[in-house]
Amino acid sequence: MAIEDRRISLEFFPPKTAAGKRRFGKVLSRLSPLQPSFASVTFGAGGSTREGSFETAAEIVRTTGLKVTPHLSCIGSNVEQLGRQLELYREIGVRHVLALRGDPPEGQDAGDGSEPYPQAFPYADGLVKFIRDFGGFRISVACYPEFHPESSAPEHDMQNFVRKVKAGADEAITQYFFNNDAYYRFVEWAQRLGVDIPIVPGLMPITDFRQVERFSGFCGADIPRWLRLRMEALENDPKGQSELGIELAARQAEELLRNGAPGLHIYTLNRSEATLRLWDHLGLPRSATTHSPAMRTAP
Ligand SMILES: Cc1cc2nc3c(=O)[nH]c(=O)nc-3n(C[C@H](O)[C@H](O)[C@H](O)COP(=O)(O)OP(=O)(O)OC[C@H]3O[C@@H](n4cnc5c(N)ncnc54)[C@H](O)[C@@H]3O)c2cc1C
Repeated sequence: MAIEDRRISLEFFPPKTAAGKRRFGKVLSRLSPLQPSFASVTFGAGGSTREGSFETAAEIVRTTGLKVTPHLSCIGSNVEQLGRQLELYREIGVRHVLALRGDPPEGQDAGDGSEPYPQAFPYADGLVKFIRDFGGFRISVACYPEFHPESSAPEHDMQNFVRKVKAGADEAITQYFFNNDAYYRFVEWAQRLGVDIPIVPGLMPITDFRQVERFSGFCGADIPRWLRLRMEALENDPKGQSELGIELAARQAEELLRNGAPGLHIYTLNRSEATLRLWDHLGLPRSATTHSPAMRTAP
């Protein structure tokens, strides 16, 4: 498949402040002409941005006409609230969601004695089944080529991923990684276990190394030594760091697509420059990304 036929999606988060909202409007107006296969909108666990996610999704639908894929989390909602969210999304024309377990709100780890937060299902597979029964939505799930930080062993994490796929996922999107071999090995292993849905690599262009480093510590993404050293050498040169980050992401993306990745999911961090430069580097047309029908896992 030619590179320009792969599905490239973009991830955004709901802006919180008035300035953030203004910036987001500008970013959207720069990125929507790329016609990504969809724009996804994150969901802050704990309900802190449930309304924010909906507002942001609705704004993207209203102002760009792009397909929007809101993230839904088991944590922060009960079953009734999740059903209501799906109804609201359906009303504004959303037909695709990313089903997640999510993480407990900061400072409210289970068992710390704080107020309990609602959690509709213990794991994402329960949410996938719920959405499948609700009907009318294409379902993506998350996966982790370098394995989820809570998992006791790679085998368990992989079994849990397979369970989630068998519950009815149409597509998986990976956590970002900087080592493509981890992705290839993960896909190969999943396929050996009967997973035949597309596994789309998540791509994080580094524009602020310290920010990515902090987040990587939390989500378990490995930062290779060579990358850390090169970024740290540019500690006092933010522009140089961002240039290097974009160049490396472009090379990483090119290699992934050349080696058969079904598309890319770009973590934009609500910024436009890295995505625009990647798009040009890959020679992608401004409106020809396609959205091919999903394959399902063999029963
Ligand atoms: C593409 C992408 C987008 C994301 N967007 C958001 C977002 O918008 N908001 C947000 O809060 N977070 C987001 N996250 C982060 C995600 O919510 C966290 O990584 C979370 O800790 C796990 O969510 P999950 O859906 O992968 O969980 P699950 O698939 O439920 O897995 C969570 C952990 O539990 C284990 N597990 C799963 N099922 C079982 C089982 N039946 N028995 C025992 N163990 C089990 C897994 O191995 C794993 O260690 C995103 C991650 C990715 C990759």
